[in-house]
Amino acid sequence: SKVPTLTLNNGTTMPQLGFGVWQVPDAEATKAVATALEAGYRSVDTAAIYGNEEGTGKALAQSGIAREDLFVTTKLWNGDQGYDSTLRAFDVSLDKLGLDYVDLYLIHWPKPAADTYVDTYKAFEKILADGRAKAIGVSNFLPEHLERLLGETSVVPAVNQIELHPQLQQAESRALHAERSILTEAWSPLGQGKGLLEVPTVVAIARKHGRSPAQVVLRWHLQLGNVVIPKSVTPSRIQENIDVFGFELDADDLAAFAALDEGRRIGSHPAEVN
Ligand code: NAD
Repeated sequence: SKVPTLTLNNGTTMPQLGFGVWQVPDAEATKAVATALEAGYRSVDTAAIYGNEEGTGKALAQSGIAREDLFVTTKLWNGDQGYDSTLRAFDVSLDKLGLDYVDLYLIHWPKPAADTYVDTYKAFEKILADGRAKAIGVSNFLPEHLERLLGETSVVPAVNQIELHPQLQQAESRALHAERSILTEAWSPLGQGKGLLEVPTVVAIARKHGRSPAQVVLRWHLQLGNVVIPKSVTPSRIQENIDVFGFELDADDLAAFAALDEGRRIGSHPAEVN
């Protein structure tokens, strides 16, 4: 595939660009994932709560692509946090995906009010030790949640998947991740395709490179070192979003992107999700 891989802190590798399937109904997921695999994507990001692990798994099985050439991420939903319930929920996810291991298993949200993410992560360490996940990590963890996890468990998370796009650049989290060898994975990398792709700076940079706004935004992430998982069910956009390896942003472009940071979330604040 044309997508470069990044090496995780446990030595496994992960494609820097993958396909996100949030809000894709199970029945449509098979077709969308199949389209992505045909376009060259090898990494898929799903979650128990998305309700499309079965449809996703079907596309993986039907693709004929060797298991070792795929990278599958799923996530534990909040209601299943806790040691035993995590082990049970993981079995259900594997079964729905039709796999005997995932490449990456993430705690979907820290859900700090429940105070169960440390026990949950200890179950993740068992899943990792049993070889049923090649890597484990977290999602939506604020620096304070990561620091606590690092202090109370032994496996450093391979990844923290957080909301990140040019209008929410997450400098503090990215610096902590870099210091701790945790890969930063950007969710809603296109800002959910809403206002961001019409921001004049983004449109101007796109025009300059003869590319689309989505492509230059994805390029910005890649040059920062982020993993990205753009979502689309439209074949032409699925294609367009992976065609981002034939050009580079220059220092002026990167400076212009840097100025777009507003610290504005589209999604929920991690401290408030229960
Ligand atoms: P995104 O930033 O990937 O935007 C997707 C939307 O942008 C599409 O629905 C479409 O409307 C538009 N779009 C896509 N390609 C385009 C193109 N080339 N040109 C114009 N518009 C285009 O948003 P997302 O789906 O929220 O995030 C991507 C993935 O991140 C999700 O599918 C999911 O896998 C993951 N995610 C994780 C969490 C989490 O809590 N861990 C939360 C949200 C999303």
